Amino acid sequence: MDGENGQLHIFFFPYLAHGHIIPMTDMARLFVARGVRATIVTTPLNSLFISKAIAKRKTDPDNRINIKTIKFSSAEAGLPEGCERADSIPSPALAIDFFKATEMLQEPLEQLLLEENPNCLIADVFYPWANDSAAKFGIPRIVFHGTGFFSLCAAECINLYEPYKKVSSESEPFVIPNLPGDIKMTSMLLADFVKSDGETDVKKLWREAKESEEASYGVIVNSFKELEQAYVDHYCKAFGRKAWHIGPVSLLNRDNVEKVERGEEAAIDEHECFKWLDSKKPNSVVYVCFGSIADFTETQLKEIAIGLEASGQNFIWVVKRSKNEIQDKEEWLPEGFEKRTKGRGLLIRGWAPQLLILDHESVGGFVTHCGWNSTLEAVCAGVPMVTWPLSADQFYNERLVTQVLKIGVAVGVKKWVRVVGDSIKWEAVEKTVSRIMVGEEAEEMRNRSKKLACLARQAMEEGGSSYSDLNALIEELG
Ligand code: UDP
Repeated sequence: MDGENGQLHIFFFPYLAHGHIIPMTDMARLFVARGVRATIVTTPLNSLFISKAIAKRKTDPDNRINIKTIKFSSAEAGLPEGCERADSIPSPALAIDFFKATEMLQEPLEQLLLEENPNCLIADVFYPWANDSAAKFGIPRIVFHGTGFFSLCAAECINLYEPYKKVSSESEPFVIPNLPGDIKMTSMLLADFVKSDGETDVKKLWREAKESEEASYGVIVNSFKELEQAYVDHYCKAFGRKAWHIGPVSLLNRDNVEKVERGEEAAIDEHECFKWLDSKKPNSVVYVCFGSIADFTETQLKEIAIGLEASGQNFIWVVKRSKNEIQDKEEWLPEGFEKRTKGRGLLIRGWAPQLLILDHESVGGFVTHCGWNSTLEAVCAGVPMVTWPLSADQFYNERLVTQVLKIGVAVGVKKWVRVVGDSIKWEAVEKTVSRIMVGEEAEEMRNRSKKLACLARQAMEEGGSSYSDLNALIEELG
């Protein structure tokens, strides 16, 4: 299947969201470091972030990754001009319009496949039509999900066995059938579309995504075997999928520039951030960040602030207010909060250099929404987590962290909410933050997490499980 000059050429086509673009860019860099030619296909606005993330990297000093842009007319789809990423969708109700609008990418993608003639298309699961596109050019399509094996298995089991139909109330716990580990869940933690019998637009998208996964050449997963071995086996054996685990891909980012230049421009100067972190003792700072999309009501933000203050811990808190709210009023911040927490609390309003922060030795815990990238990044940093899921695969990731790996405690979210969270009281924030930061339980979780961090590094080193699986995939495609 060799391309021009015998060099394998792969197209990477991430969904339009930071949580997909960031790991897929790292992934393309990994392939290039093994001598593969890589082209990332995206929209003009997103290409700016990608160019920044691939510029002058040690793993690719000659900047060999090619970026090809295709137009995404958000206005045509009834979305605001320049809405090219999931985090810029103005309201959660428009998410499905955004999904549908991405279908307009099929034709220009196929034009590029025709011109560039790659050997393989690694396309996001949210482009179910990508199988057909690849088939037109006689090349394999590999699916990228952006999540781990545990959540892939859990979602599949829920879908197959519908355990939520066998409980008497939405809050009655059930064990996910046929999933190793006796994992508990409730119906309230599942998205409505999962439980609905009728065919909604979102349900249709998920069904098509599932079907295209089953019909694809295989699945590439940003995870490592040692983290979730039972679920790697289950996914491949019980569900008969062909899958390669090649992560954690974020470990490719070793120096500070690499750790900072991911996603948006950081809202804090990297040196200032470092100086602040350097002034703190090891494991004494809790980092609070909920990814690129999740948002909270003002009431919830206030509860977080009070909880953080009451915990007495040092903290870095990343706050992203929704775009349509007045940014400078900040009525959600308790009176005098910043003054009282001066020196021990740092508020980042906007994008944080997350990898840089998590990898700093002074950071000892992470309050996270359990996005898969954030979860893996915490594992790589060896820190325990307070889990605060909102939607998507986040409740499954929470279960992996709290019930399987035992490296985190749940803040206590009881309901799937899609984007805007508002249910947690400050007492729960204070209590769970203290539990992951100080005391015997925190130490035990930290030790377990540190062991996993070591295993993650080994997996990515020459001869490690992820290193070898990537080699196996390249050989198979070559
Ligand atoms: N991220 C970051 N700074 C921020 C917010 C997010 O660097 O202020 C990065 C984070 O390190 C991760 C990605 O954005 O790599 C978010 O992906 P995740 O799967 O955790 O959550 P999502 O944003 O998809 O909900």
